[in-house]
Amino acid sequence: MGELTDRVAIVTGSGQGIGHAVALELARRGAIVVTNDLSGCCADDTLEEVRALGSDGLAITADVSDAAQVESLVDAVLEKYGRIDILVNNAGTTRDNLMVRMPEEDWDLILRVNLKSAWLCSKAVLRPMMRKRYGRIINMSSVSGIAGQAGQTNYSASKAGLIGMTKALAREVASRNITVNAVAPGFIKTKLTENLPQDILDTLVANIPMGRWGTVEDVSYAVAFLASEQAGYITGHVLSVDGGLIMG
Ligand code: NAP
Repeated sequence: MGELTDRVAIVTGSGQGIGHAVALELARRGAIVVTNDLSGCCADDTLEEVRALGSDGLAITADVSDAAQVESLVDAVLEKYGRIDILVNNAGTTRDNLMVRMPEEDWDLILRVNLKSAWLCSKAVLRPMMRKRYGRIINMSSVSGIAGQAGQTNYSASKAGLIGMTKALAREVASRNITVNAVAPGFIKTKLTENLPQDILDTLVANIPMGRWGTVEDVSYAVAFLASEQAGYITGHVLSVDGGLIMG
C-alpha cells in the first residue's frame, strides 16, 4: 500500500516527458492514474506502465484546451471512479519567436494550451473535489513564468498566468481542504527542449548552479510531494525545481 492508495489522479499531457514521469511516480505511490495526450500517440503506453506498477487507470486522448473535451474526460473519470482527488495540469507546448516576428495565432495557441487548459480542467474537477472536501491541484509553470525568457513572450505569459491563477484559486478553495500549488521546472531534458542548438544548451547549463539539466524524475518527485496527504498545509506555493537557477 502506497501513500496515495485509492486516490484518483488526472495527469494532463502524460504521454511523454514530465507528465509521463509524474503519472508513473503517482502510480508507484499507489494512485489510480488517468493518463492523457493530444495526438493519441502515447497515453495508452503510459497506462500500460502504470498497470505494470500494480496500479490502474484510464487513458484518454483529449485536447484539454477544449471545454467539451475536458467535460467528457472528467465525466468518464467520475463515471468509472466516482471521485477525483488529484489534478496535475501539465499539458503544454511552445511556439517560440521574438515578439516582432511572432504571429498572433502563436500567442493565442500558447495561452489556450498552456493556461486556459488548466483553468478548464480545474473548473471541471472543483465540484467533485468540494463534495469530497479533498483535493490537490498542481499546475506546471516554468522558470520562464517567473523570470521571463527572450523568445518566449507567449510561453512566459502563459506560465506567469498559471502562477497568478494558482494563488487566486488557492484562496478560493482553501476552506474546502483543496490545495492549489505550482511547480516551476528549470531546464528539463524532454522533447520540448531537445531541439535547442548546442551553443544555447551550453550557455543554459553554465547558468545553473547545480551544473546540470534537470530530469523528468526530479520534477515528478516535487509533484508527488505536493499531491500527498503530507503537503496538506501548503497552498498557493510555487516550488522551483531548477538546480538553483532562480533564487529568491
Ligand atoms: P513534452 O515532452 O512535449 O510533452 C507534452 C505533453 O503534453 C505530451 O504528452 C502532449 O501530447 C501533451 N499535450 C500538448 N498539448 C496538449 C493538449 N492541448 N491537450 C492534451 N495534451 C496535450 O513536454 P514536457 O517538456 O514534458 O513539458 C510538460 C510541461 O512542463 C509543459 O507544461 C511545459 O511547459 C512544462 N515545462 C517543461 C520544461 C522543460 O524544460 N521541458 C520546463 C519548464 C516547464 P502529444 O504527445 O500527444 O502531443
